Amino acid sequence: MSIQAENLNLEGVKTELYGRNHPSLTPVDIEAHAKTLHRVLALKQKHNVVMLGHNYMEPLVFGLSTKQEQGDSLGLSMHAAKTTAPYIIFNGVPFMAETAKILNPSKTVLVADKTAGCSLADNFGAADVKSLKVMYPDVPVMIYINSYADAKAESDVCCTSANAAKIAREMPGDQIVFVPDIYFAQNLEDELAGEKTVIYPGKGNHEKGAVCEVHEEFRLSDLLAVRESFVIPKGHGSRVLYAHWECRREVLREADFYGSTSQIMQDIAKRVKENQLERAFVASECELTSNLSQEFPTVQFWTACSVRCSHMAKVNLAKVLHILEAIDAGDSLSDYEVTLGPDVIERARTPIERMLQMSA
Ligand code: SF4
Repeated sequence: MSIQAENLNLEGVKTELYGRNHPSLTPVDIEAHAKTLHRVLALKQKHNVVMLGHNYMEPLVFGLSTKQEQGDSLGLSMHAAKTTAPYIIFNGVPFMAETAKILNPSKTVLVADKTAGCSLADNFGAADVKSLKVMYPDVPVMIYINSYADAKAESDVCCTSANAAKIAREMPGDQIVFVPDIYFAQNLEDELAGEKTVIYPGKGNHEKGAVCEVHEEFRLSDLLAVRESFVIPKGHGSRVLYAHWECRREVLREADFYGSTSQIMQDIAKRVKENQLERAFVASECELTSNLSQEFPTVQFWTACSVRCSHMAKVNLAKVLHILEAIDAGDSLSDYEVTLGPDVIERARTPIERMLQMSA
């Protein structure tokens, strides 16, 4: 849900907030935040800022973006690639903003907190890719989009959770190195069994690899407990248990549907349209479910709000306002701007563009 331009006066902002389907957004919250939201939206419009909102943002931040400005990291970067606006504020973590910068290097790309990390991107860098390339010199390296630009620059092709299987199938040879997410690699290995061998960190080598600290939280026993307490029997037509690709192998096997964030959202939208979704649990970041609850109010969502990405949570309304106030005052944006050297931009663009061509 996003606040439309026609609601830009303070009363319009409040009306929109009161109309939201969000259990933790109380009248006290609304009265406390409405002024800040109003100021952010007014400055966004005044300076023609594109404000990209990742699905894992808290609802108040997510709602600052229009529907077209909301999505997953690749969808948002593709939106960034097309924009003519001078400023892009990327409400997500810095590796996401880097991809936007690579695809549209002439724009000023800003993030609310440059210290926000990611357990995947932070724990697997360019040196790790190079080391695997030495071990497997003739095998193409496919890197997950959740990585920094310098690691992408050393890789042959990039992928997202929505297109990894398709791209792996189409890359030359009968083997592929996938980095850095170990659980994702194992799920890909299952998906490609009998077609292509997936090599990944820790499988026959001493590389460490990484996992998403959020999706790692879900264990098979959690899903079974959710099934029982929320009454979502396996295979039930309109009660569905979803899991993200970054979850453990056994969690994916237990889920009724697994996929990328965008694939999960598309499946929910399709079922809602067909009046086929009564209840759902999504094994993923908790604010994704908060945002889904607002978008699909007819569905009963259960959420695990202890499973929050601490890195994504560093982005908040007050910090986004700081960026816009700095733009408005003509102050330095160096605390927020994502910068990359021309050489890294050039080399990291190649695997990203290859992915875009292959997934078209
Ligand atoms: S949820 Fe957080 S830790 Fe997991 S991949 Fe996204 S940014 Fe990284």
